[in-house]
Parts: sequence; structure tokens; C-alpha cells
Amino acid sequence: MTDKPPAHARFRPSSIPRLAPPPANPDIVVIGAGAAGIGAARRLLERGLSVAVLEARDRVGGRAVTVRLRGHAVDLGAHWLHAGSINPLVRLGRARGEPLRRAPQDSHVRVGRRPGRPEEMRASARAFDLADRAMTLAARDGGPDRPAADALPPGLGPWRARVALVHGLVSGRPLGEVSLHDFPSLEYGDNLFIAGGYGAYLARLAHGLPVALSTPVAGVARTGEGVRVETAAGAAVSARAVIVTAPVMVLREAIRFDPPLPASIRAAIDGFSNGIYEHAVLHWPSSPFRGADRLASLVGGRHAPPGLLTRIDGTPFHYVELDAPSIAATGGDEDAVRRLVRRVLAEHVGSRGLRDLSIPLVSQWRRDPWSLGSWAVVPPGHAPARAALREPVGERIWFAGEALSHRQWGTVGGAYEEGARAADAAADRVLNRTP
Ligand SMILES: Cc1cc2nc3c(=O)[nH]c(=O)nc-3n(C[C@H](O)[C@H](O)[C@H](O)COP(=O)(O)OP(=O)(O)OC[C@H]3O[C@@H](n4cnc5c(N)ncnc54)[C@H](O)[C@@H]3O)c2cc1C
Repeated sequence: MTDKPPAHARFRPSSIPRLAPPPANPDIVVIGAGAAGIGAARRLLERGLSVAVLEARDRVGGRAVTVRLRGHAVDLGAHWLHAGSINPLVRLGRARGEPLRRAPQDSHVRVGRRPGRPEEMRASARAFDLADRAMTLAARDGGPDRPAADALPPGLGPWRARVALVHGLVSGRPLGEVSLHDFPSLEYGDNLFIAGGYGAYLARLAHGLPVALSTPVAGVARTGEGVRVETAAGAAVSARAVIVTAPVMVLREAIRFDPPLPASIRAAIDGFSNGIYEHAVLHWPSSPFRGADRLASLVGGRHAPPGLLTRIDGTPFHYVELDAPSIAATGGDEDAVRRLVRRVLAEHVGSRGLRDLSIPLVSQWRRDPWSLGSWAVVPPGHAPARAALREPVGERIWFAGEALSHRQWGTVGGAYEEGARAADAAADRVLNRTP
């Protein structure tokens, strides 16, 4: 670990919203201006309350940020609008006339250097189906929690490793480290994208919000009827309630609570593990993958890359999706990741196919002090943690963020929804409280 800023933090966002100055005596403080903080602040203002959002970074959006690279919008964090039918940002995007587009359902398959055959594609789809059904049934069988990997059924044949790899990727940890009871709760189908990037969309939603940037919070104290939120610079903002949206991995160390949080809440926070998922951003004009926005499954080589998203919005940009084992195998070093990506791609397209490939950046969210991971993962035995965190503390501290979402955990939509939920609960409490 070095003191150098993580690679993605060296790029400026493509879209910078105009923010309002936060009031000195707000009804409610929101800690963090990522999806959950933006969702919370928008809902509190709709409810007629005054709000001050305190954000550690010098930008909004948290783990969703879009930058401009070689004239194109590139997301360095979140990119898919998952679970379209229940994602509040899809609903809101449609109402606002945002440029949403459906993600293609089909993907490229390459087995070694050749395209996959129709029977291989069918076998792969069948294996994923079988696994999904088996895991969903096993999670509901009433037995004790166990690693999600234990519920992979027999009969997946040569596709077993691929199924485990892909599910491990979307989980943020290998399936042996993921709770079976929690895993199937994720709503993953029906994905969309947005032109100009997901981070830029969130930045538009932050327009006009009262946010203080570069203001890390170091402490939350309960005082009389309210709270005092203390910044790392030694300032304090008093309010009637606070909504804390800092990632749970950050919360453990960065924010001191006085009096300390109840043991059940502390145990819920401490029990999550940090999900690892990073993007290697590829600029590859001559890539053999045609069309736009298709995933590519590369199988049959010595190295098994978990994911490749090709020709984003029809541009020469691609993402290699890196999981925890690939990051561990490279020691997390950016250049080692670049070499791994080149080795993997060369197996499938030959070295000459990579002549115009460049890899301008590899994200490092796990090293970013304001995220310390890509999302929170529930290990076996820890499944009640998401619900436990929804309980307010002393009727004046609410938590929100992707980690609390049951059906959309690890996503921007889930974080936004949890922000709005916490805002409603806090607003109900504040508006009904006699002064
Ligand atoms: C590479 C990558 C790809 C992803 N892909 C997708 C995807 O395609 N689709 C999807 O839906 N999700 C994706 N995700 C997950 C998604 O980005 C997150 O789930 C979501 O952005 C979390 O929102 P949040 O508001 O809970 O947290 P954050 O976005 O992390 O927001 C929390 C905010 O709190 C701030 N903060 C932290 N500590 C403090 C403090 N002490 N004081 C003040 N502020 C503080 C942070 O700076 C941050 O702005 C991806 C994540 C990564 C890393």
C-alpha cells in the first residue's frame, strides 16, 4: 500500500454539478454524496426539511464516477443500471427523459481462438440456469446458512468453473466466501445503460443539492434531542438527525460514534467483508468483438478472465472485469494487471490482435480510503446484517447505502433506494417530534 492516490482518483469527473451552500443549522445531516446520500438529500428536500450533505471527496457520486477519455465518457465505477424493473434510477431516468438504453441479452463466446459453437452456448446457458435454480432453492430450504459454493449442483460439467467464476465476480468474493442465504436475493436481470455514463447521471441528480465537498466526517455524537456531526477539520454541525451513507468498510475506522453504537449494529458493520471488483479500461479500436455493449465469455485458455464488456456504447473502449482472485494473483499492481490482461487476450486473439490495445487505467477502489472496496459482501452466517443496519440508533442515526439493500445490494439503484428509505424514516421522526 502506498500513499499515492488510487489510479481512478487521478481522473476528473466529466460532469460537475452546481451545488448549493449547505445551511449552518440543518434539520438533518447526510454523510456522503454517493448514490445513497444523493437519494437521501433529494427526498429530504422534497419533504420540506433542510439538509446539509458532508462529503469527504472533492466530487459527488462516490463509487459511480464518469470521466472523459480520448473524447468518450468512461465509467470508472458503476456502469450497468441493474434490475431495471425495480431500480428507482431507471424509473426516475424514464420520467426525466434520460438517455437509457437496454443492455443486449446475447454475448460473445470464444473458446480458445475460435467463436463458441451454438451447442456450447446452449450448454453454458443451461449450466447458469441450473445453478441459479439450485442456489435459490437451497437458500430457501430452511437449513443453516453456508457458503453459496456448496449449493452449486452436480451436472454443470465443464461449465461449473465458469459459473463459479462469474457468480464470484458479481458477488465480489469467491462463492466459498459468500452467504448462501444472502446471495440469491440479488436481482440481476434486465440491465440498462445510460449514454454519457452512470456517474454523470448521478452528478446531474446532485445538481442544486446543499453539499460541502472535501469535508470528511470524523465523529457523530448524540446530544440531548439531536446529534453533533464533527468534521476531520474540527468543525461541527448540529442537527436533529443524521443519515450515514459512508461505505461500511470505511465506517469501521473513519467515524467515531459517541456513545458507541449498540453491539448489534457494530457486529453487523464489522461482519461484512469488502467486495473486490475492478475495471481495467481498454482502448482497443481493432478489437474483434463487433456490435456494442456485449459481454464476452473467453473460455478454454490457460487464464480464465471473469468478464469482458466490449465496445461500450459502440466506442473503442472495453472493460476487463477483475475479480478478487485476479487482483490477488497480480498483487494488485497496475502494471501487473495490464500484463495479465494482455496475456489473457493474447490467448484468444493472438498477440498481433493486440497491436493497437492500450490500457489507460486500472481502477483501485479497494485502495481508495473513501470506499475500501467495491461493495460490501455478506459472508456465510452473516445474512441478517443488512436488515440489522436498517434499525435507527437512538431515533436519530440512520444508516443507508448499498450494503443495506436486500434485493439490489452492491448497486447504485439499491444505494439510492436505501438513501430515500432512510430519509423518509428520519423525516417522519423529525416532523412528528415535538420540539
Ligand atoms: C468498479 C466498480 C464497478 C461497479 N459496477 C456497478 C454497476 O455496473 N452497477 C451498479 O449498480 N453498481 C456497480 N458498482 C457498485 C456501486 O458503485 C455501489 O454499490 C454504489 O455506488 C454505492 O453507493 P453508496 O452511496 O452506498 O456508496 P458510495 O458511492 O461509496 O458513497 C458514499 C460516499 O460517502 C463518502 N464518504 C466516505 N466516508 C466519508 C466520511 N467519513 N465523511 C464524509 N463522506 C464520506 C464517500 O466519499 C462517498 O462519496 C460498482 C462498483 C465498482 C467499484
